[in-house]
Amino acid sequence: MTEDAIIIGGGFAGLSAAMQLARARRRITILDTGEPRNRFSPHSHGFLAQDGRPGRDILADARRQLAAYETVTFRDAPAEKLEGEIDGFSILTGDGGRIDARRVLLATGFEDQLPDVPGLAERWGKTVLHCPYCHGYEVGGGPVGVLARTADAARFAALVADWGGVTLFTNATPEPDDATLSLLEQRAVKLRPGRVTAIADGPNGMLSVETGPGIPTLVKAIFVMPEARVRSAIPGDRGLTLKETPVGKIIQTDETGQTSLPGLYAAGDIALGPGNITLAAADGVKTGVMLHHSLIWPTH
Ligand SMILES: Cc1cc2nc3c(=O)[nH]c(=O)nc-3n(C[C@H](O)[C@H](O)[C@H](O)COP(=O)(O)OP(=O)(O)OC[C@H]3O[C@@H](n4cnc5c(N)ncnc54)[C@H](O)[C@@H]3O)c2cc1C
Repeated sequence: MTEDAIIIGGGFAGLSAAMQLARARRRITILDTGEPRNRFSPHSHGFLAQDGRPGRDILADARRQLAAYETVTFRDAPAEKLEGEIDGFSILTGDGGRIDARRVLLATGFEDQLPDVPGLAERWGKTVLHCPYCHGYEVGGGPVGVLARTADAARFAALVADWGGVTLFTNATPEPDDATLSLLEQRAVKLRPGRVTAIADGPNGMLSVETGPGIPTLVKAIFVMPEARVRSAIPGDRGLTLKETPVGKIIQTDETGQTSLPGLYAAGDIALGPGNITLAAADGVKTGVMLHHSLIWPTH
């Protein structure tokens, strides 16, 4: 049987889209590999009425509620390939299956590519953080670091100064220009030049940030904006139009969430760039509704 839609990715965007389609009694299959981007953090913050809950628990609740709709099928398998065209798509799954659908929604989220600094990856989501709005409050003030990956980190450091006393580790990125240096001075951001060679446990639960020989800098947490990559081969295979953002390439969509391939939609981080749960969920709702409309009023 042909599904109305296949949703690739059962994260915040995918499940939000699924809810709209399920409530319209449309037949959908949700493919999911169960690895939301925030899986490294024990708690999630800032999502209204869910503040402080583990992200996995929020998704598990959503999944349970969706499973009550009889037109919804979950399949815990990766989508590997997209064949066909609008009204006649097929998804080939990693477990050897094939599912046919009129529309497809990509909501696979990002995979973060952290700078190659020893000690960084194992602390990701705990004391190595990307989003001050998500986790900055819990750091509780005091000394914090910003690890530069690109020149944009200087402006980010000026922002993070609302959450603590910032040291910006320039990590061999270009020296900030005069206007940025003046902003950093106003925001009391200290500059620490040189390449960061390691992050290690310091005394009293602090992080020790090493920049070559000399005394390491102690901070409570360090913020970094990693490069984010779309977690799917489908955009490349199908030649989708992409868009450059400060965090990396994302999928270009129109105002309805449709990609450059008619009938293929994208939502969440991969269509928004730097995002959060609320924005991904809202984008999923919008795109789910627009995808539903396209089943009734074809736009192609
Ligand atoms: C460490 C960290 C902490 C964060 N903390 C917060 C926070 O506290 N508050 C907040 O608002 N935001 C937070 N965020 C941001 C938030 O995680 C993202 O904005 C949000 O997860 C994006 O939702 P999404 O649905 O686009 O993607 P995701 O939530 O990443 O979901 C994508 C889903 O697609 C699945 N998938 C991927 N590829 C395939 C495939 N080929 N086939 C089938 N399934 C696939 C994945 O397994 C995953 O389940 C955090 C991010 C990070 C990195």
